Amino acid sequence: MSRKINFSAGPSAIPLDVLEHAKAEFTDYRGEGYSIMEISHRSKTFEEIHFGAMEKIRKLYGIGDEYEILFLQGGAHLQFSMIPMNLYQGGRAEYANTGVWTNKAIKEAKVLGVKVDVVASSEDENFSYIPEFKFSDDADYAYICSNNTIYGTQYKAMPKTKSPLVVDASSDFFARPLDFSSIGLLYGGAQKNAGPSGVTIVILRKDLVDRVSSQNVPMFLRYKTHVEANSLYNTPPTFGIYLLNLTMQHLLDLGGLAEVEKINAKKASTLYSIIDGSGGFYKGHAKAGSRSDMNVSFTIPKEHALEPVFVEEALKEGMIGLKGHRHLGGIRASIYNAVSQSDVDKLGEFMREFARKHG
Ligand SMILES: *Cc1c(COP(=O)(O)O)cnc(C)c1O
Repeated sequence: MSRKINFSAGPSAIPLDVLEHAKAEFTDYRGEGYSIMEISHRSKTFEEIHFGAMEKIRKLYGIGDEYEILFLQGGAHLQFSMIPMNLYQGGRAEYANTGVWTNKAIKEAKVLGVKVDVVASSEDENFSYIPEFKFSDDADYAYICSNNTIYGTQYKAMPKTKSPLVVDASSDFFARPLDFSSIGLLYGGAQKNAGPSGVTIVILRKDLVDRVSSQNVPMFLRYKTHVEANSLYNTPPTFGIYLLNLTMQHLLDLGGLAEVEKINAKKASTLYSIIDGSGGFYKGHAKAGSRSDMNVSFTIPKEHALEPVFVEEALKEGMIGLKGHRHLGGIRASIYNAVSQSDVDKLGEFMREFARKHG
């Protein structure tokens, strides 16, 4: 078997033991004689997986009954509008704008008539940093994106506010322990750090469930509907939830999120120290202090034409997904949970060699 080393930004690498596990029971789930994809979402067999995944998420983040765990569809993109539909109460919503994904969320909120207050932005320097700011304590909600997948910036800590903090954690879900003290809602698609595409995980503080107005929000777009139905209101993406459950177990087996964070920090520092030690051959996009442990975006400033050559030659060495996002260009290595230290070491070795050859 020759599996590629996968630096894709999303959908992205899934732990091999999770894939092997799924493969082994793909046509015959635990001797039951059917695939998990072929049975009712209301069967006991599936419910065990469904509620098991929710339990594991609680365990990983150390959260109890004060939060609901929801499995929805429509990706992070649907949350850009579901959040204001469910949480906005006619006052103000505060957003910190740190890139493409917050921009999109702001746009959707405005479509819905939300009075949006952009309290901070790093647009002035092409989103290369996480701005210093404070949310007020009296907004309907306060919105951030914890890890900016394209620019490679990441909040080092969750902002504190008495307003419910809403966090798009699509690209650093389950990558580190989080302080939930301000968090009202944390969400993301599974396809970057938690499994395949198709499942959106929403962690919602219970007191926010009843905020939604029943006047003009369609039933399906109310969190309340899905809370009351235990995320089984309609047919959920069963195979995605099955893989999510296996991935959560994999993280628990590694020792939980504190361990996962250590592993991730070491991988990231491997790459950043090569960039910093390259004598200017490589230049990281994110400023020191804002650098992401998940997405390392960089360029080759002396000759940008070398960037596609880098991507091409890396491909020949079995490394995929290194082309930068079309908004930023350059090179991006996404080093999510499923990318190992030895995968990163291989990329690091390649980077050193490439710089030696072309520097
Ligand atoms: C990928 C990504 C999105 C978009 O996710 P979809 O599931 O495709 O809607 C939103 N926010 C962040 C931070 C992302 O990385």
